[in-house]
Amino acid sequence: MTAVAAESAVTPEGRPQPYAYRRRELSEPDWRRIPGWSDITSAEWESAQWQRSHCVKNARQLRQVLGDLVSEAFYADLERDQRERATMSMLLPPQMLNTMDVSSTEAFYADPVRRYMLPVFSDRRTDFPSHPVASRDSLHEAEMWAVEGLTHRYPTKVLAELLPTCPQYCGHCTRMDLVGNSTPQIDKHKFALKQPDRLEAMFDYLARTPQVRDVVVSGGDVANMPWARLESFVGRLLDVENIRDIRLATKALMGLPQHWLQDDVRAGMERLATKARQRGAQLAIHTHVNAAQSMTPLVAKATQAMLDAGVRDVRNQGVLMRGVNATVEQLLDLCFALQDNGVLPYYFYLCDMIPFSEHWRLSLAEAQRLQHGIMGYLPGFATPRIVCDVPYVGKRWVHQVSEYDTERGISYWTKNYRTALEADDPEALNRQYEYYDPIHTLPEAGQAWWREHAREAPEHAARLAAASRAASEALLHD
Ligand code: SF4
Repeated sequence: MTAVAAESAVTPEGRPQPYAYRRRELSEPDWRRIPGWSDITSAEWESAQWQRSHCVKNARQLRQVLGDLVSEAFYADLERDQRERATMSMLLPPQMLNTMDVSSTEAFYADPVRRYMLPVFSDRRTDFPSHPVASRDSLHEAEMWAVEGLTHRYPTKVLAELLPTCPQYCGHCTRMDLVGNSTPQIDKHKFALKQPDRLEAMFDYLARTPQVRDVVVSGGDVANMPWARLESFVGRLLDVENIRDIRLATKALMGLPQHWLQDDVRAGMERLATKARQRGAQLAIHTHVNAAQSMTPLVAKATQAMLDAGVRDVRNQGVLMRGVNATVEQLLDLCFALQDNGVLPYYFYLCDMIPFSEHWRLSLAEAQRLQHGIMGYLPGFATPRIVCDVPYVGKRWVHQVSEYDTERGISYWTKNYRTALEADDPEALNRQYEYYDPIHTLPEAGQAWWREHAREAPEHAARLAAASRAASEALLHD
């Protein structure tokens, strides 16, 4: 992106502002600078099929594309991470790789998108690479499945996980338990039911659960669902009287905008948006952009295509990560890149407590400072809320914490609704639920406490999880 104007580096009186907004002109980096793509035409680049069939899936393929732009040591670092740390298999569309800085090995190491899409062993922490209470399915979504793949965690909202794949795999994926191929570290959970049976079971549940008015249609990424099947699913959702909001979750709007620019997809989205409008329901797209450089002309074009097709809104749900977007400047650059190109900067999540994520995660206090730092620059409706997804609670704004032990990095949260898990628990709304800061961000006394107590913590967390699972299973078998 090129800065075309510096408009707000100073106040009208000439005093400096902490952040200077610059309206930036988008530009697609020239993929022909990359050895493996030196003869790729625009028509190939803009083809969703070409992008899908040229995704990078391992270090060998990355070496074939980048060649000696990056040192051998980097490829070895990547291979070691895949063997010993990665919770996600590698899948990187050319569109995303092309937005990274490949001008030198050092620049590649430092690149924000590289840091979360191609994590390497040396990125990770060596003291506590995982928090002692980190877990697969750290949000316990599967425990709250009303039927397989349909999480009912909030009173009026459900999350439908249609499929366990995406066109791109992010290193920090919160659904690492289920999404993508198994890695040497993580054997992925597999859906037991076949997809058509699972989707039927979801419709059965929705038909007998009039409390649900809002469905997040997710995965994985809905861009991996064959369009006709996705259109049929969403069209049927729109036939359910009580459903008023449908959100389609697709990081591919950024990772593979070529998918959303295909004629059949655009025409199909127009049919769905028309049906939604006629029913008085809202159909929106939720995407996942974490760095300003990801907003390229093709991404802006795909966004505009969806808005032209009639979706109510395109919103971003990013994830806060150290080295990616954890400064006020990085976050505001990203928010303005989104807002100036049709995407509402809606949420940023704290990175969830999955294994091997400590180097990415921020403390609650850091997140609170970021929330404070970004206030007042964007229009109020486009100022994102920074949220902590508290296990067994759900999304809470970071300033809603009820108590906070900053020495041990344990924050305590309350909830104001019941999930099926606590249907018969009289204490559910009085209890406090815990979230944990990364240990390396704590003062020395707190770090020492964790070194001493790290072994007990998972047992405590496991007891809570086991009680919850038992309650969930009892309900499913009722
Ligand atoms: S696109 Fe979403 S679901 Fe897919 S790997 Fe990334 S974070 Fe996970």
